[in-house]
Amino acid sequence: MRKTVVLYSNLWATVFMMAMFVLSSLTGGARPGLQPLKGKVIVLDPGHGGGDPGTVGVGTTTEAENVLAIAWELKGMLEKAGAEVIMTRQSDSNPAWGTVYAAQENGQLASRVAVANRSQGQVFISLHNDWHDDRSVQGTSVHFYKSQDLALAESLQRALVSRLHTVDLGVQRSNFYVLRNTTMPAVLVEIGFLSNPQEAARLSQPTYRLEVARALLMGINEYFAQL
Ligand SMILES: [Zn+2]
Repeated sequence: MRKTVVLYSNLWATVFMMAMFVLSSLTGGARPGLQPLKGKVIVLDPGHGGGDPGTVGVGTTTEAENVLAIAWELKGMLEKAGAEVIMTRQSDSNPAWGTVYAAQENGQLASRVAVANRSQGQVFISLHNDWHDDRSVQGTSVHFYKSQDLALAESLQRALVSRLHTVDLGVQRSNFYVLRNTTMPAVLVEIGFLSNPQEAARLSQPTYRLEVARALLMGINEYFAQL
């Protein structure tokens, strides 16, 4: 008899726990986890655009289109979590157009850096897709240059690989203009290869772009949480 009572109490405890779990997820229980993003200023830099499609791979969409769509998804998620987001371009345009950088060689990159450095952004994240002569090559890498970039690069790479299950090409030190010239922690993310048929097809899908944005959100959140 006593055994039955114990069994019942365990059952009710389980039911209670499950009800609480359902309730907390319905009321946005995941939100407190994104607390580190509140009030942060984040610069998103969708690569290319405005006459520069970036990589045109074997899929139906260009690099410039893919990364702009991912940036818009990510912007919405970050703002929902209380962050402020600055985008270096919001449409299929060249950020140098109409600025003093338009006539300059490297003007497109210089204008991105100028937006970032003026913004007092706490992090700068440049979004790209990769390309390789060998079509079988796939995966994701995050690039950094300055020592202050490394922690952000590692958080993003970890989140991308674990959430998207892509091949882990690691964190790499690369002498890229936007990394070298930005004054805040900055990274350049190479999400998938447009030379690879599977990854090119995936990156053209809105649902996959949403997943990429979610992975980036998690990585940025982890970065701020560990500061
Ligand atoms: Zn690119």
